[in-house]
Amino acid sequence: MFAICYGYDLLEPFVDTQTMQIHHDKHHAAYVTNLNSALEKHPEIEGKSLEALLMDLNAVPAEFRTAVRNHGGGTWNHDLFWLVMAPKAGGEPQGGLATAISIAFGDYSSFKAEFEKAAMGRFGSGWAWLVKKGSGLAVDSTANQDNPLSDGLIPLLALDVWEHAYYLKYQNRRAEYVGNWWNVVNWTEVSHRYSAK
Ligand code: MN
Repeated sequence: MFAICYGYDLLEPFVDTQTMQIHHDKHHAAYVTNLNSALEKHPEIEGKSLEALLMDLNAVPAEFRTAVRNHGGGTWNHDLFWLVMAPKAGGEPQGGLATAISIAFGDYSSFKAEFEKAAMGRFGSGWAWLVKKGSGLAVDSTANQDNPLSDGLIPLLALDVWEHAYYLKYQNRRAEYVGNWWNVVNWTEVSHRYSAK
């Protein structure tokens, strides 16, 4: 579980301080605790990375698979979520990532529209993603704490649309949360991940 490298108050006013505190210190922490207690009972998978487990869930012992999928997913997904946000961020992607977005979606605003559609169309709890798919990019959406890695995709950008991610500030207004969230997207980190993977 990564520590967040910016103050909980520094994504204000787009993501509020109390949500950041509860989200990281309670929700994310609970996924990590639950994953660790499940891992302790399964020494046979010791040494495997969480990413490797999520990429091949079928290889995980059946009685342990749901714990990895839910709590392992919850651990991994939030680690990425904190990384792809930053204070004084937002704007538009640059360089190779910008080019890849244009190729995949036409232009940046078309990408944003497709991503927001995925975020709004996710019924109940889940995530919207920008992923690397083959040599290109795609928008994806998963339920609960499922991760695109399990479908052979590589997550670059993640948006948590569980109610715990926005309800204190936005209540039922998910669209407002999603619209404001672009102001804290850390495109530098997303570009780094795009180039590295
Ligand atoms: Mn969350």
